[in-house]
Amino acid sequence: MNSQTIGILGGGQLGRMMVEAANRLGIKTLTLDAPGAPAKDIGPGLDGNFKNADAVYELAKKVDVLTIEIEHVNVSALDNILKTLPNVKIRPSPATIRTIQDKYLQKQHLIDHGIDVTQSIPLDNSVAEIQRAGSLLGYPFMLKTRKDAYDGRGNFVVKDTSSAEEALEALKDNLYAEKWCPFTKELAVMVVQDINGECKSFPTVETIHKNSVCHVVFAPARVPDSVLTNARMLAERAVYTFAALDKQNCGGIFGVEMFVTPDSHVLVNEIAPRPHNSGHYTQNGCVTSQFEAHIRAVAGLPLPKSLDLIPNSASVMLNILGEPENAQLDICKKSLEIPGACIHLYGKGHRVGRKLGHINIVSGSITGCENELAKLLPKDDVAIK
Ligand code: ATP
Ligand code: MG
Ligand code: MG
Repeated sequence: MNSQTIGILGGGQLGRMMVEAANRLGIKTLTLDAPGAPAKDIGPGLDGNFKNADAVYELAKKVDVLTIEIEHVNVSALDNILKTLPNVKIRPSPATIRTIQDKYLQKQHLIDHGIDVTQSIPLDNSVAEIQRAGSLLGYPFMLKTRKDAYDGRGNFVVKDTSSAEEALEALKDNLYAEKWCPFTKELAVMVVQDINGECKSFPTVETIHKNSVCHVVFAPARVPDSVLTNARMLAERAVYTFAALDKQNCGGIFGVEMFVTPDSHVLVNEIAPRPHNSGHYTQNGCVTSQFEAHIRAVAGLPLPKSLDLIPNSASVMLNILGEPENAQLDICKKSLEIPGACIHLYGKGHRVGRKLGHINIVSGSITGCENELAKLLPKDDVAIK
């Protein structure tokens, strides 16, 4: 299909599922991560740290295109590769990764391009500065670390002036503050950008978090059609803005997380420049998965005409997190009895709270998905309450 080799920084579950998609397309991959990383079970990989410039350079020398499964990489190392190995493409571009990996810079970039986001202000790390943010934004507000945040680690809800000290203690430094968004739902759209910068989107989905970790995703989202359309258009417009940063290295998939306000207004929460947990449903709910779309985009292959759900279907995804005494295995086994369910395990060792896999359920309607999902979850679960 394509004689290029794609190098992937990171060999976790996202890297592994990219390798799976590439294998099916007959495209070679090489991952870089610690020994035993999940992607190495199913494809070749180098042992090393994807934040280490020398290790990244060694990978780059062996591939035609570099891509990422995680945005928290060493961007200076990527800049150096663009300069010294001009035949290697880096998709998405280092400039895009640099802008997105700093959540405050990302917000400024989106505002500069007319994309609606929550109001954000940069802060020095002091109690007085956090209180100043409170007087500007009102309480509660969200204090966030600019870099290396995920699964809500790096966020602190500042309830009033007296919690500023605790907030500083929790997050330490490199902070910014975000106005509280009283959202009614959280939505997400996967957008794939081709090497010319053009964007296409998968459907709008609804994400439900538990303890700040993605728990369940409904596709399509259970919101009016006008909101589905607005979210998809906003996500495409948001991703399109990154094309201008480096036209030579466009390409790849982006996960756009959004909020819906009580008056049905949609705004962007944050963007991930890679496959995303909210897009796992595409493996069974769509003909082309987010992983295949990403591989096709970075390899410069044509993208499918439509990224919609399989006609007359709806999907739901349930994340499998490690539970004490491996209790999550009960749900995994039960899923084998559920019509339309497909389990994806990542080959990772058990640890409580660790993402170990997910279950996609495809049905003829969202109600069908809800009914099948209910068989797997306790009655008081946030996703079915
Ligand atoms: P991820 O694992 O998705 O990268 P993250 O650690 O980068 O997460 P965010 O997406 O910034 O964190 O926030 C996590 C969750 O916190 C959001 O999904 C949302 O539920 C809530 N949240 C974030 N920002 C705000 C806000 N400004 N107002 C209200 N709730 C918010
Ligand atoms: Mg994030
Ligand atoms: Mg998030």
